Amino acid sequence: MEVVDSIRYRRTHSQARGLRDALGRSLTSLRLSVTDRCNLRCMYCMPEEHYHWLPQDHLLNFEELDQLVDIFTVLGARRVRLTGGEPLLRRDLDRLVSLLAANPMIDDLALTTNGVLLAEQAGALHRAGLHRVTVSLDTLRPERFLAITRRDYHARVLDGIAAARHAGFSGTKIDAVIIRGVNDDELSDLLEFGRANDAEVRFIEYMDVPGATHWKMQNIVSRAEMLANLERRYGRITAVAGDGSAPASRFLLSDGTVFGIIASTTTPFCARCDRSRLTADGIWYRCLYAMAGTDLRRVLRGAGSRDEIAARIADLVGNVWRARTDRGAEQRKANHARSAFVPLDALQCDPHFEMHTRGG
Ligand code: SAM
Repeated sequence: MEVVDSIRYRRTHSQARGLRDALGRSLTSLRLSVTDRCNLRCMYCMPEEHYHWLPQDHLLNFEELDQLVDIFTVLGARRVRLTGGEPLLRRDLDRLVSLLAANPMIDDLALTTNGVLLAEQAGALHRAGLHRVTVSLDTLRPERFLAITRRDYHARVLDGIAAARHAGFSGTKIDAVIIRGVNDDELSDLLEFGRANDAEVRFIEYMDVPGATHWKMQNIVSRAEMLANLERRYGRITAVAGDGSAPASRFLLSDGTVFGIIASTTTPFCARCDRSRLTADGIWYRCLYAMAGTDLRRVLRGAGSRDEIAARIADLVGNVWRARTDRGAEQRKANHARSAFVPLDALQCDPHFEMHTRGG
């Protein structure tokens, strides 16, 4: 806490609020990947047999993660999302949640999980101060779940969603990646499931993120196609005004159901992107498609007092953010010969390219 206090006193809030990148985007949202490990092997994210993992001794401990998050909040971050890999594989995650929940500058503390371990942990996470959860669920059919994820955990995910509600979470979201010929016939089933479980469903266009080595343009179901499909079933769909920086555009069915579509592939939102990502080993990325990140672990574990280190990291992050020009998804869209973003051999040289390392 002394570090935070001293930075807070040295940097005025007006400076923090003024931190903008070269394209005028603020640093508001931080995604914290707490582990690169996952207990699923989704075909669109981790389709290979073998992976190289981050070295254990490089992983930041909870105090180090909290210290970095504090610095980001002083610089203007207000939304923090725990992700991975599968964040619930990180032992005692509720302890990290309680550290972060004590930071008054965080307005929104959320978790993205595949839900497999959620039934066991929902109560502790809620008690620790987590605000809300997003559960990834692409299908309601167990056999399809097995084909997509290569693990037989469908029932556990459904239990996890029920447990989150029971634990007291509201504002739960269900994220489904929609892929042609895989689950594009389940849009309305997923919407009905979301409605029955008090959760807002968001359909995600299949993205050519690093890790999606089998990605093909033909397999994308675009936002326009999803809307046309749903309109045939439900009638008129109305767009709902959003908060501008949210990745999902939101829509309303005539029966009052609200859902979202994250159309990063066909309609990138780079112009409004206020997100950056910190890997479990402390590499900071300003874009999911970036070829390189900034090593904050080296500075964090370097010489100097806690105060000096914190000031050094704050300066580094501030300077790098001011120079940020990333528009990765737009550049990908402009590439007409689009195929997998990072070829498998390059991906296997450095786990930092992987989506499961950078955090989705
Ligand atoms: N394990 C957690 C989970 O499953 O939610 C968090 C990490 S996962 C990488 C985060 C999100 O990224 C999930 O909703 C997942 O579906 C999404 N994702 C992964 N690969 C994707 C791809 N190729 N296209 C679109 N979304 C993808």
